[in-house]
Amino acid sequence: MTEPGGSAPLVKLEGVNKHFGALHVLKDIDLAVERGEVVVVIGPSGGGKSTLCRVINRLETIDSGTIVFDGRELPAEGKALARLRSEVGMVFQSFNLFSHKTILENVTLGPTKVRGISRQQAEQRGMELLERVGIAAQAGKYPAQLSGGQQQRTAIARALAMDPKMILFDEPTSALDPEMVQEVLDVMTALAREGMTMMVVTHEMGFARRAADRVVFVADGQIVEQAPPAEFFTQPSSERARDFLSKIL
Ligand code: ADP
Ligand code: MG
Repeated sequence: MTEPGGSAPLVKLEGVNKHFGALHVLKDIDLAVERGEVVVVIGPSGGGKSTLCRVINRLETIDSGTIVFDGRELPAEGKALARLRSEVGMVFQSFNLFSHKTILENVTLGPTKVRGISRQQAEQRGMELLERVGIAAQAGKYPAQLSGGQQQRTAIARALAMDPKMILFDEPTSALDPEMVQEVLDVMTALAREGMTMMVVTHEMGFARRAADRVVFVADGQIVEQAPPAEFFTQPSSERARDFLSKIL
């Protein structure tokens, strides 16, 4: 086993299988994400993309195979699991903000409760992060007072507040009105350029072309093919990917 912080992939899945009852949702998945890499996961609905994200921070357990994160196999429980969850940020389609807390409180809650950082320090850092995602002026408001795009940028700031080693994005713009999609993608693109390790499930092919190092095409629980975006979008090698692209582009 490699030491944390080395040149090994940040996360490596080998022979991962996952069933929901009789449904075989992840089939022998082998996938490594390098440090600083941006992997965009695309594919038809029901193919296993969300489950693939969720097994990486152990929101779902796996039936067989191994997942190594930063040199260690995923912990099952306890403090090690809490640490894993703080090291792997997650941004969902549905924002998942605390509705009765202000924007700033949403961002400072994790660092103060989980990381034991002082309130003053957490607020200072929280304001910096809100500045970075362009919503510092909204810090004292509640989520319902913000647009969907602003709420999703809050969710990204909240993930960043934990100093994660990686952020998983599961269709982060799918619930947004069209005019708000770009402001969220812009924040994600900036993060990608700054070297954040990211796995992004999205149907935004423009983002994939601009920001991805690699596109992974998932269908029927399998990685059907993977390639740099320039190659994937111009000459997909599988019939399945060609068919998918013809429907969405
Ligand atoms: P995607 O994100 O690509 O649309 P998912 O990973 O959400 O795919 O789902 C893959 C398959 O697993 C789908 O058939 C879905 O209905 C099923 N599934 C996902 N989560 C659960 C669950 N908690 N219980 C049972 N079936 C599930
Ligand atoms: Mg999904």
